[in-house]
Formats: sequence, C-alpha cells, structure tokens
Amino acid sequence: MTTIEVAGEPYRVGNIFCVARNYVAHAKEMGSQILAEPVVFIKPTSALLLEGAPIRLPSWSKDVHHEAELVVLIGEGGKDIQVADALTHVAAYALGLDLTARDVQAEAKKTGMPWTLAKGFDGAAVLSRFVPASALPAPSETSFDFYINGERRQHAETRDMAFDVATLIAWISSRFTLQAGDLIYTGTPEGVGPIRAGEQLRLTMGELIDARFDVV
Ligand code: MG
Repeated sequence: MTTIEVAGEPYRVGNIFCVARNYVAHAKEMGSQILAEPVVFIKPTSALLLEGAPIRLPSWSKDVHHEAELVVLIGEGGKDIQVADALTHVAAYALGLDLTARDVQAEAKKTGMPWTLAKGFDGAAVLSRFVPASALPAPSETSFDFYINGERRQHAETRDMAFDVATLIAWISSRFTLQAGDLIYTGTPEGVGPIRAGEQLRLTMGELIDARFDVV
C-alpha cells in the first residue's frame, strides 16, 4: 500500500491508469498512430517507486526505456465525469516515468500478449513529489523535461497531447469508476530510450518539480 500526501491530505494509491500513444511524435517513433479513442493500460500498485528510492532494473530485460509523463492524482472519484468538470476531480500533479521493458513489450506486441510484464514490474511506475492541483490550474499549458546525467532526452509541451487531461479523465471514467487515489500517467512525448545502471535521472517542470533518481 502506498500513501501519497498532498497538502497534509493522505491518498492511498488505487488504480494506476496509463495512456499509451498520446503525443503524435512518440506514436510515430513507435511505428503506431493515434486512434480515435485513448489506449489505456493498468500497472499494479506494487510497481510504484517514489522519489528518494533507487531504480533497480529487472534482470530479465536488456532494454528498459524511460517514458517521462505528467501524472494526475484523482482527489474525487466519479463515473461518467464530464469534460467541463473533469479538472475539479484532480487533487495533484506529479511527473513520472512509465518504465517499459521494451524488448519484452516488443515480443508481447508480436505475439499479441498483454503488456503487463513489460510495464508492471516492481519500480516501473516512478513518481516525483506531487504539487497540489491549484499550483497547475492549466495542465494543458505546461511543459516538462527529462534528463539522463544532465543531458536532456525528452521535452513535452502538454498542449501537444492528443487527449488532454480533462478528456482523459472523462473517457476513463466512462469505462471505469475513478476513485480517490487513482493515478493517471498521461503518455510520453518522443525521445524514449534506454536507462542503465549508474545513471542519474531527473524530471523537471518549471519551478514546480525537480526530482532525481539513481539507477542502480
Ligand atoms: Mg507511457
């Protein structure tokens, strides 16, 4: 069980929804395209890794990739949430890494098997500290960056999302009941690539977030 605290309020993390293919340039680099509806998968809560903990790469993959993403913490659950109300359901935002065993995922794609192992291993859902939603009133007008050993590898302008945060909340809640404590990883921009033991990773969003992680 992982509990996240935002402005003194504890949230026990529930379902971890992740959106694939939400930035056109990343979909292209993966040889896929954006569809009419979001592609959503789920990670287990055992995959969570909070800022301060080291990232340990799984022994059974030779190609674990970083996918830097804006992460939404749901503060108030709901079903069939309307786009216009959706942002009022957000408690906080963080940056995260949707770590992906790309070799295992490629094999799964080839054989039509689920992505669970490639996306759900221990430590595969990396999270920075959260900032209250009030600090980011317009999540579609922000940007964030990801660095390895001080070198920038990914840059996102959230206005480039195919499905913005409000649309994602509305769509996910039309198919699943959203609950307080659920997380939504909102997809990664282009520039994904491998991480290796010994590297230092960094996620930044302006003045709001600056998170560092050691890969061991
Ligand atoms: Mg992703």
